[in-house]
Amino acid sequence: MTKWVYFFGAGKAEGDGEWRDLLGGKGAGLAEMTKIGLPVPAGFTITTETCDYFYKNGKKYPSDLTKQLKDNVAKLEKVTKKKLGDPKNPLLVSVRSGSARSMPGMMETILNLGLNDKSVAGLASVTKNERFAYDAYRRFVQMYSTVVMGLSKEDLEHRLRAMKERVGVKLDTDVPASGWKELVGEYKEYFKEKAGKEFPDDPMEQLWGAIGAVFGSWMAEKAVTYRRVEKITGLLGTAVNVVQMVFGNTGDNSGTGVCFTRDPSTGEKIFYGDYLTNAQGEDVVAGIRTPVHLTELKKLMPKAYNQLEKVRVTLEKHYKDMQDMEFTIEEGTLYMLQTRTGKRTPTATFKIALDMANEKLITKEEAVLRIKPEDIERLFYPVIDSKFDKKKLQEKILTHGIDAVPGAAAGKVVFSAAEAEEWAKNGEKVILVRRETSPEDVGGMAVAQGILTATGGKTSHAAVVARGWGKCCIVGAETLAIDYKGKSMKDGKSGKTVKEGEWLTLDGSEGTVYTDQLPLVTPEFPKAYTTIMKWADDVRRLRVRTNADTPQDARKAIEFGAEGIGLCRTEHMFFTDFEFPEKSAERQRAIQEMIVAEDKDARVKALDKLLPFQRRDFIGIFKAMDGFPVTIRLIDPPLHEFVPHDHAKQAELAKELGIPVETVARRVEQLHEANPMLGHRGCRLSITYPEILEMQVRAIIEAAIECHKSKVKVLPEIMIPLTLDKKELGILTDATRRVADDLIKKAGVKLPYLVGTMIELPRAALLANEIAEVAEFFSFGTNDLTQTTMGLSRDDAGRFLPDYVDEKKAGVFHGDPFQTLDTKGVGMLIKWGIERGRSTRPKLKVGICGEHGGDADSVKFCHQVGMDYVSASPFRVPISRLAAAQAVVEEKKAAKKGKKK
Ligand code: PEP
Ligand code: MG
Repeated sequence: MTKWVYFFGAGKAEGDGEWRDLLGGKGAGLAEMTKIGLPVPAGFTITTETCDYFYKNGKKYPSDLTKQLKDNVAKLEKVTKKKLGDPKNPLLVSVRSGSARSMPGMMETILNLGLNDKSVAGLASVTKNERFAYDAYRRFVQMYSTVVMGLSKEDLEHRLRAMKERVGVKLDTDVPASGWKELVGEYKEYFKEKAGKEFPDDPMEQLWGAIGAVFGSWMAEKAVTYRRVEKITGLLGTAVNVVQMVFGNTGDNSGTGVCFTRDPSTGEKIFYGDYLTNAQGEDVVAGIRTPVHLTELKKLMPKAYNQLEKVRVTLEKHYKDMQDMEFTIEEGTLYMLQTRTGKRTPTATFKIALDMANEKLITKEEAVLRIKPEDIERLFYPVIDSKFDKKKLQEKILTHGIDAVPGAAAGKVVFSAAEAEEWAKNGEKVILVRRETSPEDVGGMAVAQGILTATGGKTSHAAVVARGWGKCCIVGAETLAIDYKGKSMKDGKSGKTVKEGEWLTLDGSEGTVYTDQLPLVTPEFPKAYTTIMKWADDVRRLRVRTNADTPQDARKAIEFGAEGIGLCRTEHMFFTDFEFPEKSAERQRAIQEMIVAEDKDARVKALDKLLPFQRRDFIGIFKAMDGFPVTIRLIDPPLHEFVPHDHAKQAELAKELGIPVETVARRVEQLHEANPMLGHRGCRLSITYPEILEMQVRAIIEAAIECHKSKVKVLPEIMIPLTLDKKELGILTDATRRVADDLIKKAGVKLPYLVGTMIELPRAALLANEIAEVAEFFSFGTNDLTQTTMGLSRDDAGRFLPDYVDEKKAGVFHGDPFQTLDTKGVGMLIKWGIERGRSTRPKLKVGICGEHGGDADSVKFCHQVGMDYVSASPFRVPISRLAAAQAVVEEKKAAKKGKKK
């Protein structure tokens, strides 16, 4: 028999904190907190497996769930000494979602379940607070109507407003019991009219309805969107947590809050959070009322605060990570409602990992594992350029709000999530401005550069979601009056008005909003980053190089920790002179002259013009990489990429070269190929035109000799692209060595160099043992290898690949195979290629230089198959360094686990 329900309460729990996949994060946290003796209200969790069953069986529940639910309700009644629906002292429960990965606010919650016309009287008499009891009742009817039955929120809100007007009060807290009573009646009538049946009085019927709504919300549009944006896949579904209600809204001796064991923005070790007196949990998250800081709670209720502080310490020690907790204080008594690993900014991620390692709470290796590739990407949040005139900056202030997520962002103002998506699709940068955000807005929030809300605190929906994404966010800018209809906003203090489409700049670190588009710059590395990356470097085995074609890129990559160049695409130098851009045309002409040349002599003459350019470029790169290996690839793309295709440009070229335009046009026509990616490209060019290879090798070796003479340490590796056969490669490596050795001999220096190849074709991988006999190194060109193995064009497949990744469509791949290596198929060729290659050349040096060299999962695979290095674009070098280290730590962990078993 499958166990669908797990109980917790009175210090014991059937579930375990480790069982997040089965119990969801919330359920696992409640079980664990119960076990370690924290004050948690009793309850039970219906597993994620039940949700999975529900969807796999036409939205039907397993047959034995009914009995298990009944048994657990009975158990809960026993532990709480209260009964559901009891007219004297009723048990009330909350019904909440909770999946294995946190999806803040994306799924449904129902509070105060168990109330009906009889039990509400019991609640009133037990609490001696009729007003509170009927307020709870109307909240329940309201939530049940909208969440379970899908009735209009607006219609109910309208009735609430009308009632307040009738009674003559402004604030909810001023509504008397009679007002709430009246409203419950109206709500129920509305329910009957719309649903065609009476509002359910039976608590068990209410409970089933709520369970169905929570499971249903797993597939709601907003939840599906959130999972897509957050790349959350492979979960069974949501669990349902049914927990005894505790009340934060019984009066001023009660309240509710959300807190973090450390500051989620900066990572500092301070107790951080928001508290709302006389409120229910949802009020904090919804951001409707602006809460106060925890320090206020310390003043208001020192005893409860001290208890909470102790819980903070216990939980952090227990989980060894920063926790995000929800709590309620009912008449001075503290209850913990949730704990989970807290979302944090990338700066905080590094600081917390570093501090926890220094506090010996975790090891250095665990600290390295804590960092995600996105943390590195998001670490370098832009900030407003400090060189921007301070006085002008002051003048541009529109308003101030709460600094929810740091960094700066600039974009055009839009006032709805739908518009944000629409505008972003058209390539516009937008700032999403809302009074408050709700989970429906996630799509628009995801595409916005930054988010600004007029209400809410640091734990409001907008803040929590934006923080998880590392997206600049300011909340609680309360002086802003937003006019959704008129598509404009006016700030009460500055008096300024901003309309849709006008630029805005947010400084999320300060909480300041500026009009206009201000200049943004990316900051320096923080200290914690440098230390943790050093720890990563200490453990990794893989070397990390970079793909760079210019001395500037090479220098940038060194700053990011690159240990050499794994791919320098020489053809990029044919187009642009990176040092003297005004000289670019000269190079382009030389290569074009080479291509249209009628015979070898003419080609050599043209190549002689290119030689000094290439030599100068290589000198720059060797100098930037002093002491590190530099892999330079010989010409790769088909020649038609270098010649003009329109008549006017062809005529211009013909004129400059002093040849008839027909000659140019004919040559261009000759170069046309139906399928150039599989055409005359890569090393096939050097077989046809050995003089190109000779010029390039000459430029490389002459540059190396010059650097060597001026005491720059050069380690050139000459790489021949796209080979498919040992004999083909042999011809080219022989030619390369002939030119190189002759130059080195004449120069009278000792200059070691390597000649190797790229493995970019399945045939080359399959025959790697033969190819390794002539190649001193392999570099897997996985862009082409993916293209040729899968038969998918790297330039065009992007149009339909999303269907292959979308779980709702085909879901053939987990990710785009051009971004994350297809380890199953392409990976099999890589493994085979390395093994076979090293069978004939045991010391064969092996690396990767396709885009995958900067993708964390792919880098881990490269480690596993025994590569020597990966090569990534400069900005992705830190991601590769980290992933290479994580691969080692994960390997060690797995080995340890294996031993234990
Ligand atoms: C590759 O094919 O993986 C590669 C690095 O070469 P390019 O992208 O220049 O074809
Ligand atoms: Mg290639």
